[in-house]
Amino acid sequence: MKVPLLDLKAQYATIRSEIEPVVKDIFESQYFINGPVVKKFEEATARYIGVSHAIGCASGTDALLLALMALGVGRGDEVITTPYTFFATAGSIARLGAKPVFCDIRSDTYNLDPDKLEKLITPKTKAVIPVHLYGLTADMGRINDIAGSHGIPVIEDAAQAIGASSPLGKAGTLGTIGCFSFFPSKNLGGAGDGGMVVTNDSALAEKITMLREHGSKPKYYHSIVGINSRLDALQAAVLTIKLRHLDAWTDGRISNAASYRKLFSDKGLKDIVLPDVPQGHRHIFNQFVIRVKERDSLREFLTGREIGTEIYYPVPLHQQECFSGLGYKKGDLPESEKAAGCTLALPIYPELTREMQEYVVDAIAEFYGK
Ligand SMILES: *Cc1c(COP(=O)(O)O)cnc(C)c1O
Repeated sequence: MKVPLLDLKAQYATIRSEIEPVVKDIFESQYFINGPVVKKFEEATARYIGVSHAIGCASGTDALLLALMALGVGRGDEVITTPYTFFATAGSIARLGAKPVFCDIRSDTYNLDPDKLEKLITPKTKAVIPVHLYGLTADMGRINDIAGSHGIPVIEDAAQAIGASSPLGKAGTLGTIGCFSFFPSKNLGGAGDGGMVVTNDSALAEKITMLREHGSKPKYYHSIVGINSRLDALQAAVLTIKLRHLDAWTDGRISNAASYRKLFSDKGLKDIVLPDVPQGHRHIFNQFVIRVKERDSLREFLTGREIGTEIYYPVPLHQQECFSGLGYKKGDLPESEKAAGCTLALPIYPELTREMQEYVVDAIAEFYGK
């Protein structure tokens, strides 16, 4: 048996008949940038998330960049974020000439640890970016309290968390601005790059809308300098259809996570740490990440059995070469460093069958001699 980490062809097979006509419509219209199809998708996304403004852009990375630009982040500023995330979170901060300040994670949720946040705040701190890693929202109640008491806005990196919720509400509604990605491997993935910025703040929404089109309003009049970062109509058309299936797909991931839990427990694999889902949270399992001993040998063994896995992420951002100038040393952010050494993502996509999951867990049990 072959079990890939993700099988987008299996998903496409279920929606091909819905996608093909809308793609054809876009070509017939020859209206590719912004326009009515994008507007319709922005409105549908705003409704789905429960926010008043959703602004499409070219990628999740640009969503973060636009959010930071809208808040006026620039040279000399500091932005606090987690080092245990995809590079874009900190890359966007650095691209604006600001300094990423890394706050370690909690070992159970892999999300920013609010206990370590306050002491990193300085007069230069202009924003905090918690990441809802793997599809579980960060502890936004405490992060908002701490940032709020210093008057600092919070940007949610919700790239992996569309549809996730906590007892406080849905991802994207929990901070000042929320950022989403439609990279094909996200739970709501386009046919290429795409992103969305959401907010309930009308002034910020207007600024973000200007910033994504070179800061223009009206067209050809520029009171601020922006970038070119728009969502293609083609992406919006595909995503509008996929959004209708999103909750059913997410339920499939959640149900697969429950199956893994049962299978691991039946095998007596107690040393393997499964993803934590705090009370009242909807974890959307963009990734199902386990914490294991001998991770690299296990991964090699599973590759031999044609089981796809991935390491998210092998090098925490404070240890990336491009950030060596920030002066972090090994051991500075111990939980992130530990997680980078022992986490492994298993296949969790909705079309995964029970037999495939049994095959995965049997192989892991065999590796540990169970
Ligand atoms: C995917 C991702 C991004 C970037 O999104 P792109 O659409 O690929 O630019 C940012 N942050 C996190 C946590 C992500 O997983």
